[in-house]
Amino acid sequence: MPIIVQKYGGTSVGGTKRIRNVARRIVAAENDGNEVVAVVSAMGNSTDDLLKMAHEISADPPERELDMLLSTGERVSVALLAMAIHELGSTAISLSGNQAGIQTNTVHTKARITGIETRRLIEELESGKIVLVAGFQGVSPEEDVTTLGRGGSDTTAVALAAALAARECEIYTDVDGVYSADPRIVPGARKLDEISYGEMLEMAATGAAVLMLRSVEYAQKYGVPLHVRSSFSDKPGTWVRKEDEDMEKAVVSAVTHKTDESKLTLLRVPDRPGVAATVFGALAEQNVNVDMIIQNVSEQGTTDISFTVNQPDLPAAQKALDAISGDMGVAYLIGEQMGKVSIIGAGMKSYPGVAAKMFRTLADAGINIEMISTSSIKVSCVIERAKVEQAVKVLHAAFNLGQTG
Ligand code: ADP
Ligand code: ASP
Ligand code: MG
Repeated sequence: MPIIVQKYGGTSVGGTKRIRNVARRIVAAENDGNEVVAVVSAMGNSTDDLLKMAHEISADPPERELDMLLSTGERVSVALLAMAIHELGSTAISLSGNQAGIQTNTVHTKARITGIETRRLIEELESGKIVLVAGFQGVSPEEDVTTLGRGGSDTTAVALAAALAARECEIYTDVDGVYSADPRIVPGARKLDEISYGEMLEMAATGAAVLMLRSVEYAQKYGVPLHVRSSFSDKPGTWVRKEDEDMEKAVVSAVTHKTDESKLTLLRVPDRPGVAATVFGALAEQNVNVDMIIQNVSEQGTTDISFTVNQPDLPAAQKALDAISGDMGVAYLIGEQMGKVSIIGAGMKSYPGVAAKMFRTLADAGINIEMISTSSIKVSCVIERAKVEQAVKVLHAAFNLGQTG
């Protein structure tokens, strides 16, 4: 029997009625002749609620304890879902990340999956059960609970699909698929029928929260086809798969955005070999993901270096810089209220003028660009956070990405 892995996000299991709806879908997939593994997120906003409580108690909660706390959200939904499936007369078993064999490194709150021990999963499937796995969590070599970072249930699902050689991985969410822009900002955004791993990677990396970046990396690495679709309808969603000859290569497929960027500028850094390595080495040690980096032209032996980080990483970035800036004799500035807007399209590789059109569109809307970065299929601009929504709207219109017909 083919194995399919399904993942249901927080809104899809946001109450007991919705959990019963999900149970019906899972049992229908079983009745269609599949072995089903379903991964679930915590109910509704419960991860945010848990985080809020932690921060009411401590400004800087120990990360090991945060993981203990946050992992409970997914345990609640997975156990309730098992009960709902039993009510429908099927047999299911709920498993924590640890019980499901999800092994990770020790980086609490953003752990990486290092391997999956599939023995228990396969035994349970072979005994005829539907296997339900609490998303977003695993176990470290020290036998501590870890979590995989926000949106991590997507990664749990894709990693399980890869480990079990599943036929496909269905990501059930609160939208019908992957759109040409976040439908919450652009109501006229168009649902994409299919998109390549490469484009989806760029979209996830530049803020399209519909899939966690690491889940797309996994899917590409192991060739797992993803079907992103709604848990509230039977409409086909968006297939994320390997690019081939038949796939339409739009010049621009989507506009994405982020509103949680912070910009740090190191002033008058000595311009000699090894300085960038020291700065970014210190940031890496604090597990800070650095996004864009710009080094200015050197003047009188010094230069300015600017870079962006996700706002939640700002305290860790400051800690890293404080530790080294004294030795190097440099000061830094922080711009907290930044955002980023990006355009993505596989066809832009062979189409000059796309970046120029983006910059012109932003200029015409009176939006100042602070930093720019490009890849062969993406152009990103860091802009003032307050202008991000407007930027998404004007770019979506300028590149004609809306509904057709
Ligand atoms: P889940 O809880 O199911 O994991 P998420 O909130 O993580 O759901 O992701 C779904 C949300 O992603 C949508 O409600 C939508 O607002 C947002 N989103 C952002 N960009 C896009 C996009 N390009 N296409 C579809 N959804 C997007
Ligand atoms: N519950 C976690 C979060 O809110 C993981 C997930 O939903 O994928 O980020
Ligand atoms: Mg999500």
